[in-house]
Amino acid sequence: MKTETENNASELNNYSFCLFRLPEEGGRVLWEITNSCNYSCNYCIFSAERGRIPGELTTEEAFEVLEGLKSRGFTHIKFTGGEPFIRRDMLDILRRSRDLEFIVDISTNASRITGDMASELNEIGLNMVHVSVDGHNRELHERARGQNTYLPTIRGLKYLVDSDAYVRIGTVIFKGNEKYLEEMVQSGASLGADEIIFSYMEPVGRSKDDYSLISNKPIEEVKDALEQLAQKYQDKIKVNYSFTEKPKQCESGICPAVNKFLYIDNLGRISPCTWVVEKYPQYRTEKTVKTASFEEVMDSEPIKSYLSYIEHNKIRGCPVSRR
Ligand code: SF4
Repeated sequence: MKTETENNASELNNYSFCLFRLPEEGGRVLWEITNSCNYSCNYCIFSAERGRIPGELTTEEAFEVLEGLKSRGFTHIKFTGGEPFIRRDMLDILRRSRDLEFIVDISTNASRITGDMASELNEIGLNMVHVSVDGHNRELHERARGQNTYLPTIRGLKYLVDSDAYVRIGTVIFKGNEKYLEEMVQSGASLGADEIIFSYMEPVGRSKDDYSLISNKPIEEVKDALEQLAQKYQDKIKVNYSFTEKPKQCESGICPAVNKFLYIDNLGRISPCTWVVEKYPQYRTEKTVKTASFEEVMDSEPIKSYLSYIEHNKIRGCPVSRR
């Protein structure tokens, strides 16, 4: 079984309160490289849209951001969307990221992945390809993700598995699939995925304040069930979960955003973190590399004021966590 290279600082030092896994050395970037998508999932956290989105970064501008992130010591990038492979230059951006020795993960619905693309991705050397699948059958998956989304995703996933990529299935627990945890683990294993990671559907983005599909299944109950499944299926697939829970009390830990974690949106605006910008949009830059250098964007007022907000208010632990 391929292993995903991961040195996980969160557990090792004072970042266990952070909702993101952080590397011991360097830092992680979550980059929403496009907001365009060919799917319209009910609960899309980024409310992705169909069609071309004006104002998104060009290939050259994306390369400039990569150089800037490198010079600031960031080491890990997770590209997400929308659907990243909607961009015709996505393979070029991934290649440049690897040339700069970033450890690269990508989140995709896999519907645009062909056999040839999967082989190219393998040559590029991604750390992990995260494919979103929310059910062990078409009916369940499409209840969350919309019609005609299951078969194209499974086809793309199979190309990735055949190309020897490290494939992680990302499954969002919602009212419809919460009682099929084992069936989804079995399905993931039979598809040849290396890992399946569960998270909870959140009432944010396109389903902001819409609780119709939100699961009320207690976290501890789901954790117990998943830990048993992790044992039972350990020879077939890695079973994991990532739940946004109340932060553990943390006297000393300071939010790692800006120095060890960054979120870049599809227009190139930089924020300390996805959860911060959702709650405090004033901490997102309006400046982007379209009008300023990467360093000028990082030194702009919104970023500086977030760091002083954390410092002057002596905030310890995660300033935004929920549940
Ligand atoms: S606000 Fe800070 S501590 Fe909380 S999830 Fe974001 S980066 Fe982590």
